[in-house]
Amino acid sequence: MSADVRATAYHEAAHAVTGFALGHEIRCVLVNPIKGVRYPGRTERVVSGPGHPALLSEECAIVEVIGGLAEIRHDEHWRADAWHRDDDLKDVQERLRNTGSGPMRIDAFMKRCDEIARELLDDEGVWAGIAAVAAHLETTARQRPDAPTRFMNMGRVISRAIPQKSLDQIARVIRGYAAVLNALR
Ligand SMILES: [Zn+2]
Repeated sequence: MSADVRATAYHEAAHAVTGFALGHEIRCVLVNPIKGVRYPGRTERVVSGPGHPALLSEECAIVEVIGGLAEIRHDEHWRADAWHRDDDLKDVQERLRNTGSGPMRIDAFMKRCDEIARELLDDEGVWAGIAAVAAHLETTARQRPDAPTRFMNMGRVISRAIPQKSLDQIARVIRGYAAVLNALR
């Protein structure tokens, strides 16, 4: 076991909180405290509800990018590798490539996503909420250091940790930027 558990907890908490704010169903969050595993954490989201599919995918890009940034933000020590080894970024880039975006557009898109996610994390209320959810994930996962822990009740955990007005603000910010990102791709 190592400090990775905390980084993973912040990473998954950021995915779960932003996804939940947008009305995505959080099926499961997994935190694996065993060192050296391919996936130390995972957040399974189901995207539903109304919305233009293209714009929905912009919302999802922000939700995906924010995990690695929350890891970086909670501890500067992670700056060196957390960002670059982040598979989430590769997934977003690949999706953009598959829909015909060229390298310069992808670059601009990723840069803007990064700025939007940082802006969200810089909000005191949003950060406090993510930290509270991360603390729950970390504390619970550390109770079973030899096996992954699955969290099935994230909606309840998030609702307790974050006031509705912070969740509404997250949704407002992300939806507000989705159209901006859509124009970049
Ligand atoms: Zn992730």
